[in-house]
Amino acid sequence: MKIIAGNWKMNGSHENLNQMIKDLSSLETQNKVILCVPYTMLCTESGCIALGAQDVSQYERGAYTGEVSASMVAACGAKYTLVGHSECRAYHGDTNATVCAKAALALANGLTPIICVGETMEEKQAGKTMEIIESGVRESVPVDVKSDIIIAYEPRWAIGAGITPTDAEIAEVHTLIAKTLYSMGLGGTPILYGASVKGANALAIMSIPHVDGVLVGGASLKSDDFIPIIISVK
Ligand code: PEP
Repeated sequence: MKIIAGNWKMNGSHENLNQMIKDLSSLETQNKVILCVPYTMLCTESGCIALGAQDVSQYERGAYTGEVSASMVAACGAKYTLVGHSECRAYHGDTNATVCAKAALALANGLTPIICVGETMEEKQAGKTMEIIESGVRESVPVDVKSDIIIAYEPRWAIGAGITPTDAEIAEVHTLIAKTLYSMGLGGTPILYGASVKGANALAIMSIPHVDGVLVGGASLKSDDFIPIIISVK
């Protein structure tokens, strides 16, 4: 069983979501499908697909205009939320500490956080990938986790770029993440790969050791692109 998570970012509509749910409802797959959609679509009846948010506030409630709390997301019936997505780190200034606070509130409200970590091109070129990923995991995962979390490795330079790291590079990073999680008492935590996944590379990527699924941006918006990824592995 693999986890196939889609991230719609600020795209799509209720009509698109209902169509996607309909298209996926007849799929025969053992894989777990999660769609992280804009907040306004979170209360949709989603059948066999689990819905998730794309972010939650680091605060529980209060005077934080424009923010949405983990408890509000959970009240919609959503089960997951992304935290620490590269765009939130880049445009909203999220740090590992912020991401950790968001993940802790997600957990406290019964959501499974999908905690994203990844290096920029500058960090990759400076040979800092492993350092950034290890500290990203150690500092973004709350201490004392007692329920499920998911980690997503998303090389920031490859998101939406149509390019991916080599299989060997993905294997090296995922092995590091698995070892780091094990040393934190979180062995067995699913680790997703995200960035430029499509039907043509999904099977190869999900065959790499310690890749337990994928996080898909652009190719999760249309059933014609998303379904081949979901059914690429049994
Ligand atoms: C993402 O933004 O999480 C992502 C993986 O995007 P894409 O698949 O479009 O690279």
